[in-house]
Amino acid sequence: MKSYQMYIGGAFVNAASGKTREVVNPATEQAFAVVPEAGAEDVDAAVKAARKAFSTWSKTTALERSRLLMRLSGKILENAAMLAELEILNNGKAKREAQGDVDDAAACFEFYAGLATKVHGETMLTPANAVSYVVREPLGVCGQIVPWNLPILMATWKLAPALAAGNCVVLKPSELTPLTALELAKLIHEVGFPAGVVNIVTGDGKTAGEAIVTHPDVDKVAFTGGTVTGSRIMELASKQLKRVTLELGGKSPAIFFNDCNMDLAIDWGLFATFAGTGQVCSAGTRLLVQEGIYDEFMQRYLAKIRDIKVGSGLEDDVTMGPLVSKHHREKVEGYISLGKEEGATLAYGGDRPAHLKTGYFLNPTVFTNVTPQMRIVREEIFGPVAAVMKFSTEEEAVALANDTHYGLAAGIFTQDITRAHRVIRELRAGVTWINYYHPTYNEMPWGGYKQSGTGRELGLYGIEAYLETKQININLDTAPVGWY
Ligand code: NDP
Repeated sequence: MKSYQMYIGGAFVNAASGKTREVVNPATEQAFAVVPEAGAEDVDAAVKAARKAFSTWSKTTALERSRLLMRLSGKILENAAMLAELEILNNGKAKREAQGDVDDAAACFEFYAGLATKVHGETMLTPANAVSYVVREPLGVCGQIVPWNLPILMATWKLAPALAAGNCVVLKPSELTPLTALELAKLIHEVGFPAGVVNIVTGDGKTAGEAIVTHPDVDKVAFTGGTVTGSRIMELASKQLKRVTLELGGKSPAIFFNDCNMDLAIDWGLFATFAGTGQVCSAGTRLLVQEGIYDEFMQRYLAKIRDIKVGSGLEDDVTMGPLVSKHHREKVEGYISLGKEEGATLAYGGDRPAHLKTGYFLNPTVFTNVTPQMRIVREEIFGPVAAVMKFSTEEEAVALANDTHYGLAAGIFTQDITRAHRVIRELRAGVTWINYYHPTYNEMPWGGYKQSGTGRELGLYGIEAYLETKQININLDTAPVGWY
């Protein structure tokens, strides 16, 4: 058992209460690390440290911040193998996914290192004898709450723009997957971020999470996670009118038209649903297949799905790891039972892999003959479960795709370029793909329509979410205006 400490005010510390929590490897069901269990007093200490640091950190030059972020990116790359392995042990994800996440995290810090020096305001020569200009200032202390599905990457998406903009941060990883955030804290310490600029507290959502959201000295809350939690956070934050960005769940459609390139479409269609064991906010979990190709598509799709290898993420050829926890697998299995009760046809999977007796594994699962009203079609399952529907016309596909209160992502597969542009504009989703699915770019905004969240992360939009805008007006007249 490896013991970790939290990072508050530049020091690695235990919880004030002395309480700890065991961290479990979902592939073995064994606890392998212990972390502090933060309470409200630890959060308060972290917020105080952040507030103290803000007075000097907010006045550093963009170049100083840029260089620190660049060094952090370099440290992540130096430690990439260790971080990826830890992510696999803690979250369960397959090796190539974990390695991709760590690489993306390094690249994200690099992107915001570059962007830090490009934050500019605007200037206006007013018609009267005055000058008006705008400066961008950091918000202050930002509370950041991240989930368990992409632990290091989601922590990075929050930390990098906030720090580039000159904010100080109190970040809480999920209680299930806190380890890579704590390793990141060590690298942050090593590269020389001043004490208190970044604070990482480990604890559960109800206690430590809500203490961050309700703390009067936290200026902004950025959250990624479930829609129900997002709604609770917005409600709590509204009492103090805090700035809030929410990156929530989805029930995203992937549409396959008769004229798609079927080999490519099936490849990405499987990745859309089963990447990250389906525990991805943008997962394409509603597959809409046009009737002209439906039979052939399904036959080839259900043949290709057998190539997904379920097992421990540490094994090189495994492409789908376990679910994150016992509780979460039970939740997903509950949805599989529900799908059968609702009358959907279980076309593939639905059970645990026979060769894996230990670990929270589940086979990739596909339901066909589903209707838009079924709960397995409407609710986010957040596991390896696809629901496949047949459609006849383009209009029907668009209507089915948009028939959801979510709006995070969508994908379409067609070789008709005019249809591709026409349909993608009709889809009510914040992140969309044509002829592939899932890749994200640090340079481009990420976030959802409707109940998939509010605000955007990444790209230029990502740093905007961590900046205040101040208008400064200068009178150039030397004589009184003579109003009275
Ligand atoms: P949550 O949304 O509950 O958790 C995400 C983060 O929020 C965690 O750090 C959690 O802490 C924290 N948290 C939980 N409750 C509160 C609260 N009241 N105040 C402040 N912070 C809080 O996700 P779950 O793990 O419970 O998963 C539930 C569902 O959410 C999933 O089945 C899935 O549908 C969805 N989800 C979506 C994600 C996405 O990327 N869009 C990511 C994760 C989940 P802790 O874990 O320590 O309790």
